[in-house]
Amino acid sequence: MSVQELVLRQRTEILHALCSSGSAEHLEQVLDILLSQGELIFEDYQNIQVPGRALYTNGRQLLDLVYIKGVDTCALFYAALQQVLPEVQRAGFSFSGCCSNPEEKKEEYQSTCTQSLLTQRPSLVSKLQGCIEDTLKALVISGHFTSADCDEVRLPIHTPSQQARRLLDYVRSKGESAAKVVLQYIQEKQVSGSTLRDSWTPPKEVLKYQKKLSSSVSAQSCFLSTYGGTSHMSLDDIYTEGQLELAQNCNDVHGPLGLKDIVGTAGTVNEEADTVLVSGDAGGGKSTLLQRLHLLWARGTAFEDFLLLFPFSCRRLNSVQQELSVQELLFQHCCWPDREQEEIFQFILDHPQLILFTFDGLDELKQGFSDEHRLCCPTQRAPVHILLFNMIKGSLMKGVRKVVTSRPEAVSPVLKKNLRKEVLLQGFTPSGIDCFVQKHHLDPTVAAKVLESLRTNTALLGLCHSPVLLWIVSQCHKELLGFGEGSPQTITDVFLMILQHFFQHQSSQSTMGSGWLHEHLNTVLHLGQLAYEGIGTSCYIFSDTDLETCGVTDTDICMGFLIQSKDLSSTHSKRFEFLHLIIQCFFAALYIVLSNNTDRSTIPKLFEPQNMTVLRSTCFGVCLPSTEKYEQALKGEATSAKTINLQITATFVSGLLSQRHRSLWLHCCPSAVMEKRVKQVVRCLSKGMQKHFKSIPQPVEGEKKSMHAMPGFVWLIKCIYEMQESRIAKDAMSKLEVDHLKLTYCNIGPVECTALAYVLQHLRNPVGLQLDNNSVGDVGVEQLLPCMPVCNSLYLRNNNITDEGIRKLLAKGIQCDSFRKIALFNNKLTDACTQHFSHLLKTKQDFLSLRLGNNNITEEGAKQLAEGLKCNHSLAYLGLWGNKIGDAGAEALASALENSTSLVWLSLVDNGVGSVGACALANIIKNSTSLEELWLTENCITRTGVDCLIQALEHNTRMQSVWLKNNDLSLGEVEELTQRESRLIF
Ligand code: ADP
Repeated sequence: MSVQELVLRQRTEILHALCSSGSAEHLEQVLDILLSQGELIFEDYQNIQVPGRALYTNGRQLLDLVYIKGVDTCALFYAALQQVLPEVQRAGFSFSGCCSNPEEKKEEYQSTCTQSLLTQRPSLVSKLQGCIEDTLKALVISGHFTSADCDEVRLPIHTPSQQARRLLDYVRSKGESAAKVVLQYIQEKQVSGSTLRDSWTPPKEVLKYQKKLSSSVSAQSCFLSTYGGTSHMSLDDIYTEGQLELAQNCNDVHGPLGLKDIVGTAGTVNEEADTVLVSGDAGGGKSTLLQRLHLLWARGTAFEDFLLLFPFSCRRLNSVQQELSVQELLFQHCCWPDREQEEIFQFILDHPQLILFTFDGLDELKQGFSDEHRLCCPTQRAPVHILLFNMIKGSLMKGVRKVVTSRPEAVSPVLKKNLRKEVLLQGFTPSGIDCFVQKHHLDPTVAAKVLESLRTNTALLGLCHSPVLLWIVSQCHKELLGFGEGSPQTITDVFLMILQHFFQHQSSQSTMGSGWLHEHLNTVLHLGQLAYEGIGTSCYIFSDTDLETCGVTDTDICMGFLIQSKDLSSTHSKRFEFLHLIIQCFFAALYIVLSNNTDRSTIPKLFEPQNMTVLRSTCFGVCLPSTEKYEQALKGEATSAKTINLQITATFVSGLLSQRHRSLWLHCCPSAVMEKRVKQVVRCLSKGMQKHFKSIPQPVEGEKKSMHAMPGFVWLIKCIYEMQESRIAKDAMSKLEVDHLKLTYCNIGPVECTALAYVLQHLRNPVGLQLDNNSVGDVGVEQLLPCMPVCNSLYLRNNNITDEGIRKLLAKGIQCDSFRKIALFNNKLTDACTQHFSHLLKTKQDFLSLRLGNNNITEEGAKQLAEGLKCNHSLAYLGLWGNKIGDAGAEALASALENSTSLVWLSLVDNGVGSVGACALANIIKNSTSLEELWLTENCITRTGVDCLIQALEHNTRMQSVWLKNNDLSLGEVEELTQRESRLIF
């Protein structure tokens, strides 16, 4: 097919790639390139870029023109697409038969300055973006531009790159000498400094503003707010690095990510987008991470590329009711410039690459992310959420880098489409836990005792991987150390511990034993009502009136669960918020359990959060938006974040109604009422589980019965865990009859593993447990151990597991009769784990399948595995794809497997195996009576190696195929070898 036909055939796809983002940038970049190559003349360009016309129409016009111009233009058009589109879109638009050389064309066109403006257009557009104002000044001084011309160029509706193009177009219309001014100006700038930006200092007013902004940001970020109620803990003293990981695997990123990588280039999936998402569970440390980023910037110790940083809290933005422009948003909510506001804002518009915005807690915004209302003009007023969404999308403030945090469940596909990259924040590593405890307890003996007590309680250790829970546990270390046998197991236990801790610290007399709750019942109910109504209306900041309506007194406030809300704009009267959203959920749960004022349907509704209508409330004037539009938004996408809050609340309700805590409620609520509520919860959990089981399809004949967890399944499991009543877990599992349980991409971390293991251990028959693509990690692996006896296969692909996790897993696995298969593709395994596999293979003579692809196993590891394989008579599948075992590793494996009567399938794809290795592997083929498939794709085997394989195949009739694609063989050799042996696949 000719490239011209291709343009016709792929018309829809090309248009989509160029225009679907709503931004004209891709199309304009393609035009820049074609203009610079002389494929389009300026008049063509003007016919395509008709101001005010729909983007798609402009796109179609371009395609028509390119097609008419013929094969050469079409080929160059494809080359331009390749250059401009992000990698993910690029693949479908390559055309190898490009017929003209763009460099040659360039030469022809450079005789005048006006022509140079055209031939150099793509690079000029990018160079001019940092210095539009200065170039305009040069043009005004030289008499080529009037101030009206400058205003036309500066129109804020244009992105900086569009302003640069407009400038070039105007200069062209002014003639040769104006073009000369621009070229000279750019050249001088480049000579005087290595880049334009290096040679330049921002205007004085901007520097002054930067100083004011950074001292305000520094004051905001140097203390941790959760300690506000108790003591002031400085961020420097307590900050501990959490685990950061890219959501999408990236081959060029090795080792853990650091804070700086968030705004760095590592893992970028969409160059065009400005927004980086940091996602993580509630309490996972997202706000703290941003706080750290702010502090480092304010001190000038990191993120120096950004001159101005504007931090926003979505929670606080919820209460902004009036419509604002971007300028008002920045200045009123972050820092007010003392003078020259217009100039400073203009500077921000002109230098987007020097600006960073952060938006904490996008999931706390009342409105779910949507790209319906498009807004491009930074001076136009709009509701704050519309401004925010347009900034995230990049239709507003294009080029400004934005970092947004959210819980993963609340991230919609529409938001994902607009991301530069997504980074997952996954709590503390085991060494992070040690480090945090040591920082929290300056007395090393106390720190050691706390760590010791964590190590002896693995359920609690699993919870402590979450920073907020570790903070609570450390905060309550005295209670923890005094707990003895009854040390906390569940999240509810941990939160009850902090409740008791705060009460005992704040009140003069403290009641021992279980009476402490009764003593503070009023406070619990007041705060509980505030929390409960807040969760129902997505309200997290409360006014004096809200507090009054719920009867919250000064004494209640003094207990420390509510803190004064920090608000940079500080024009409002005092506002309060809970120490953390999870604490708000906990109080809401206490209210549901203890109050006489909730109706009977509250618990059933709570367990079906998607059906829960917005709770109406008489208070919370500030939080409840008034217009219909907002009401709609509330019912729409925003419910996903609210659903998560309701789920967390329901989890606490389950925990609070657990048999173990009954004595606490003794004098707080009539026991008949409590019994009723317990029954309601148990019924809801059982009904919820049944609903999931009913969704399991009947297996196709010959296949296993498999269940893929639907949303909400893991949450129900967590609720059952909170109840800590094995009767309920057993009951739930007695109705689950599957062979395979699939929980891939379910956001399963250590906390979820604890609950899963608690419930799944009651399964009646062993299952295959598939947990691929979660964040189980070593801590999670340890939590899973109790359910190992009911796992016949364990799939843990892509889960951040290291050799240490494997050591623990296999020590348990060896003792489990049903355990036969394990898949660990894409983890962090090295040679150090292979001795454990070797031991497993020697010990378990019924083990069937071992898949260790895409790890870091070398020749040494292969030799260790070979030791185990020599003594094993059961293994049928061995997968080592994407490791580095090389020839020596292949030889070791071959000699161990040469007499195997069980091995059916062996993969050594992409392992640096050459002909020496291939010849050794040929010995397995020669002797084996079981092997059917051998995968050797993507190695460096030459003809010699393949000859050995062919000879071996002559003695073997069982073998079905040997895969040899992408080895060191010429096309001719491939053809000849295929003729000789049809089982070789190239
Ligand atoms: P999120 O925003 O994800 O809900 P936060 O950042 O509010 O979580 O974290 C909750 C609490 O956990 C913090 O107030 C702090 O006590 C603790 N914490 C979180 N991250 C860290 C960290 N990196 N170092 C020390 N403590 C942390």
